[in-house]
Amino acid sequence: MGEHVNVAEIFGQNVFNDAVMRDRLPKTVYKKLKKTIVEGKELEPGIADSVAQAMKEWAIEHGATHYTHWFQPLTGVTAEKHDAFISTPDAAGKVMLEFSGKELIKGESDASSFPSGGLRATFEARGYTAWDCTSPAFLKEDASGVVLCIPTAFCSYTGEALDKKTPLLRSMQAIDQQAMRILRLFGNTTSKKVTPSVGPEQEYFLVDRETYLQRKDLIYTGRTLFGAMPPKGQEMDDHYFGTIRERIGAYMKEVNYELWKLGVSAKTQHNEAAPAQHELAPIYAEVNLAVDHNQMIMETLKRVAGHHGLTCLLHEKPFAGVNGSGKHNNWSLITDDGINMLHAGRTPHENIQFLLVLACILKAVDVHADLLRQSAADVGNDHRLGANEAPPAIISVFLGEQLEDVIDQLCSTGVATHSKQGGKLMTGVATLPDFDKDATDRNRTSPFAFTGNKFEFRMVGSADSPSSANVVLNTIVAEAFKEAADVLEQAEDFDLAVHDMIKTLLADHRRIIFNGNGYSDAWVEEAEKRGLPNLKSMVDAIPALVTDKAVKLFEAFGVFTRAELESRAEIEYETYAKVINIEARTMIDMASKQFIPAAIQYITKLAKSLSAVTAACPAADVSVQTELLIEASDLLSDTKVALARLIELNEQGCRMAQGREQAVFYHEQIVPAMAALRAPVDKLEMIVDKELWPMPSYGDLIFEV
Ligand code: ADP
Ligand code: MG
Repeated sequence: MGEHVNVAEIFGQNVFNDAVMRDRLPKTVYKKLKKTIVEGKELEPGIADSVAQAMKEWAIEHGATHYTHWFQPLTGVTAEKHDAFISTPDAAGKVMLEFSGKELIKGESDASSFPSGGLRATFEARGYTAWDCTSPAFLKEDASGVVLCIPTAFCSYTGEALDKKTPLLRSMQAIDQQAMRILRLFGNTTSKKVTPSVGPEQEYFLVDRETYLQRKDLIYTGRTLFGAMPPKGQEMDDHYFGTIRERIGAYMKEVNYELWKLGVSAKTQHNEAAPAQHELAPIYAEVNLAVDHNQMIMETLKRVAGHHGLTCLLHEKPFAGVNGSGKHNNWSLITDDGINMLHAGRTPHENIQFLLVLACILKAVDVHADLLRQSAADVGNDHRLGANEAPPAIISVFLGEQLEDVIDQLCSTGVATHSKQGGKLMTGVATLPDFDKDATDRNRTSPFAFTGNKFEFRMVGSADSPSSANVVLNTIVAEAFKEAADVLEQAEDFDLAVHDMIKTLLADHRRIIFNGNGYSDAWVEEAEKRGLPNLKSMVDAIPALVTDKAVKLFEAFGVFTRAELESRAEIEYETYAKVINIEARTMIDMASKQFIPAAIQYITKLAKSLSAVTAACPAADVSVQTELLIEASDLLSDTKVALARLIELNEQGCRMAQGREQAVFYHEQIVPAMAALRAPVDKLEMIVDKELWPMPSYGDLIFEV
């Protein structure tokens, strides 16, 4: 990497983007392809060969030897199978480099090797990957060389979605159609398309690779399963936005460089609240692209870490007792001609279209709070949601003082006459400029916060794809828009009807608004009084996917069929049990082979020294040694009992059939048994000599990067 990077020059250099297409495709082909990309028209099969040809030449010029259909199965990570461009050697032993239109638009992949949750049993194992031309092809450079990656959707033989992209694309169609109806009602005749825009902020931890390799829990599960708190945590708030250390800076520099080449607009970077925690945010993009880019961001964060002797942990809660990592999903609706439907303006009380959009979103979130909560569920996120540092598991909406006041006016008097303004920020220093404040402060504890021109859904887990959250957001808001448009399109007096509708929606769904401290116990009680769901764990949340309400919603907008929803629920149950099972087995392994032997060694050493002292000097006070000996022996015995219990329960769990019952068993029986094993081991860590303890401590991991 050169010392000085010209960002503008390298940005997008590995992307088959619009500029490259315009340059390399025949004009007619370019125009037809653009129609599909921009207007969502069906792809003309005839142009595929021509696009493939141009793509191949471009890729080969950039050093590519292989191509792959790059897709996002329900494993949560991306999948790819590389094919070389070479053809069968001819008689002279020479090969041609080939890539046909057929190979571009369609691939075949054995669906039975990917999670399909029952769809596999009922349908054929054959799975297809289909080119998503709305997300540009790109070149991935790594140790295996340069590979042309073609973003694709992944479906079963009979068209069921087996991935995270297909439903997202379907939900984009749904919200586009319904949002356009709202715009037309307000006299907009010029916009052609509405697309959700998303900017996902990605949090992550970095640890030293050598240290990481000494922890089996990090290697197998991505999080620590044991570990006593170090003397210092994050209480000094000295890491957040702190100066970025050299080693981390060099890492961030390479990450940015790699992402820019891929056309990912990595924009902000900073240290996060916990020691060793950081964040990267790109500039927002169309949701489909934003989700693909987020996968590239996660891959790049992990890959580049190795170059710097680091390991990147994307897990939601790698360390107990310090902050976990999330992925704040900033979401808005923007037209092809640049109108943001969530832009409140300076005087939102006069902005009727905005108030209707807002009221519809409140309704959507209130009616489908369970689904939204479910969309952020993954196994690791159970340690975050509802724990005392992350958004609670209860969905509520933060609107801020200004909008809350407008809503108050509307609900009490029926008319809103003014919008509170932020006023000037006075620093009290003559040389510093005074400037206009935002009308509203932030609320960091809200899971769904309005931030001026977008909503920030803060529940999504750091390791999870943001796809599901956006599928749900797009679809529930599409439903609310549809229900509004159905009425308003028939209204005789539109102004009156829309005014009444906003008032009614706000009054009916006000309970979802909460501007206070989401971390407080008082809120949990208050939410219960309001009848808001509090789905504390992933296992509690999964049923939301298959309620009649959910099936009706998703089928109405063609986003999921009942079978697809059921298969997804099944996969989630399986995933939950599998992940906890791996964690339990890792704990069993570590306790049996590392902690118990270490404790025995310590106790033996202590006992020997105790008898040596007593032998040398019978009058010596050995109360400390005796006390420690008793304490350590007790903890050792507690450890052994808890270990035996965990082994027994885990064997029981393994014998159960996959499905809800097994997942519930893992949640209710195994997770507490794991905590019971951790407790005495963490106490032993505080007693046993550092040299005898078999692995690096929390302090070594998070303060010595
Ligand atoms: P904040 O500090 O308010 O959270 P930032 O400007 O840092 O906001 O933005 C956080 C993320 O939100 C970024 O990825 C940014 O691109 C994205 N974002 C900004 N405006 C929008 C919008 N209208 N729609 C979606 N995402 C947006
Ligand atoms: Mg933010």
